[in-house]
Amino acid sequence: MTSTSTHSHLDTIRQNIRSLEATHRLSRNSVHLIAVSKTRTADEIRDLANYGHLEFGENYVQEAIDKMTLLEDLALTWHFIGPIQKNKTKLIAQHFNWVQSIDREVVATRLNDQRPDALPKLNVCVQVNIDEESTKSGVAPEQAVELARHIDQLPNLQLRGLMAIPAITQKHIGQQNPFVRMHELFQQMRVNGFGLDTLSMGMSSDYAEAIAAGANMVRVGTAIFGPRNN
Ligand SMILES: *Cc1c(COP(=O)(O)O)cnc(C)c1O
Repeated sequence: MTSTSTHSHLDTIRQNIRSLEATHRLSRNSVHLIAVSKTRTADEIRDLANYGHLEFGENYVQEAIDKMTLLEDLALTWHFIGPIQKNKTKLIAQHFNWVQSIDREVVATRLNDQRPDALPKLNVCVQVNIDEESTKSGVAPEQAVELARHIDQLPNLQLRGLMAIPAITQKHIGQQNPFVRMHELFQQMRVNGFGLDTLSMGMSSDYAEAIAAGANMVRVGTAIFGPRNN
């Protein structure tokens, strides 16, 4: 992928998001785009940063930290979006600005305890396994409140919202639409007093559908960088 085509892909997605905001009567710039840069090189990230995009999502801890080290001169925001192994929480707490994939109390507690004092609170989302797939991380929808309550008691974490990766094969119709069910859970938790402002869902193939249902953060990889080789 040449950098020119990456730039034009980014332009296209930005334009699509702005027009989806207009279509769905959302405020302009209310939907946040995270460029998912797993498997991409530090140079590819730098090139996109020079083009004006500063928020990146990563799934693998060591790969991400290696790239952060090479990109230290840039003011980037890093989101951890992959499954979290307990023995990786310290590195995540030390290096990331956001963690979107919290799915159990022990991980939240460790991230809180391991967040360096010198850093601002770690922004976090509860990952919800909305289609209850055995292969996917995340809490069942009915367990999201309990995990959110736990996180709310941890002083070094700031609970920002919910994240989900719906099943791709499912036909999303009416009440069955997992994005709509996620939005309902999000709104219900807000009504019940949780200070959530972020609903992170939608990837390259389905971000339009996610935004239609109320996502205000989308995580897009291949539609920006091209297909991944691994
Ligand atoms: C890889 C990944 C994405 C981006 O997927 P694309 O289909 O490449 O846009 C988004 N969210 C998560 C959690 C991912 O692991």
